[in-house]
Amino acid sequence: MAKTVERCSFCGRAKRETKVLIAGLEGHICENCVQQAQVILQEELATAKQKEFPDFKLLKPVEIKKHLDQFVIGQEEAKRVISVAVYNHYKRLAHSKDVQPDDVEIEKSNIVVVGETGTGKTLLARTIAKLLNVPFCIADATALTEAGYVGEDVESILARLLQVADYDVAAAERGIVFIDEIDKIARKGDNPSITRDVSGEGVQQALLKMLEGAIVNVPPQGGRKHPEQKMIQINTQNILFITGGAFDGIEKKISNRLQTNKIGYKSDKKRENIDKDNILQYITPVDLKAFGLIPELVGRLPIVTFMHTLDQQTLRRILTEPKNSLIRQYTKLFELDNIKVTFDDEALDFVVEKSIEFKLGARGLRSILEGIMNDAMFELPSKTNVKSLRITSAFVAEKFQKTSMARLKVA
Ligand code: ADP
Repeated sequence: MAKTVERCSFCGRAKRETKVLIAGLEGHICENCVQQAQVILQEELATAKQKEFPDFKLLKPVEIKKHLDQFVIGQEEAKRVISVAVYNHYKRLAHSKDVQPDDVEIEKSNIVVVGETGTGKTLLARTIAKLLNVPFCIADATALTEAGYVGEDVESILARLLQVADYDVAAAERGIVFIDEIDKIARKGDNPSITRDVSGEGVQQALLKMLEGAIVNVPPQGGRKHPEQKMIQINTQNILFITGGAFDGIEKKISNRLQTNKIGYKSDKKRENIDKDNILQYITPVDLKAFGLIPELVGRLPIVTFMHTLDQQTLRRILTEPKNSLIRQYTKLFELDNIKVTFDDEALDFVVEKSIEFKLGARGLRSILEGIMNDAMFELPSKTNVKSLRITSAFVAEKFQKTSMARLKVA
């Protein structure tokens, strides 16, 4: 019986025509076909990677900051720090695809933003997420409880991210989560502002794994886990967590640290340089620990930045400068009714003054303006002969008197 000739199962060349013919269980492959397969493999993997990051744009920190400048006024330090952190995070993400075993591993760079409520923390996180075109969700740390208590499990955060990503797990796995009020889960005792009974420490422990990067079983509908529910697995390794909180009273911890640090050192000069009105700028992870965040959690939030309290000048800029500023929004609303609305500078100054007087911050600008503009927004669309409206200081003063806010006592 004639001996069967061994051939490459892909190109059909006989063994003697090849340099190497590798035998498999059912067939053979020659060196040419291995090389061709290698080329195809590389192309396919590159396309797959492209698909995995469809609208993903890796902008440079300067470009990220420029974009943020269009929406977030002031807060220069926070914008710079976050631009770098986000850039590094996504660079790491792109790099992790072709990482070699002996390569330098770039660690995750979760962020804490410390600053009073209404200073733009959420706005900053939201603007970043929009820019990068990744799923983004906001969670409130106060709603979270340790498993077994009444409240939400920490996994519910990921369930929300998954919903925002339309249940596309791969998209959710490179999303951004903003966890607000992280200060409210600080350890009791060390924290002067805590009012809850259930210690936050258990929640901090529960958050740890998720922040670090782990495969988490997520109940698709959110809420509590229950045994029969089908779970979706989400790997949090590439999810960027930005946490924020007011950390009421942390200035004192920072001041204390700055004071104690100085004793025994050539410190008098340094002490003079400390800007006492802006103590938050000196914040470090040590202060977060002193406030009551457990060291492990602080360790997983390596980037610490702060927001300035909004002063009069910044509030005034917030009214007009952001791309979607309140004044631009009102102008557009009236424009849709073919009415050209203009605002006098003094009228805008009045709105800012009231917001400061009532300690309402940036959120107050909107409520005050709503009150002032309501009559005009009610009446003008029916008055077809009115084509323009000038908002003067007299106009705002008169309208403001009619609002319920005017009857409030200044706090
Ligand atoms: P926080 O998360 O710090 O409590 P937000 O980001 O929710 O504050 O801010 C509330 C609103 O105030 C925002 O929607 C935005 O309109 C406005 N705002 C606050 N800070 C700024 C800022 N620095 N630049 C522009 N708008 C701001």
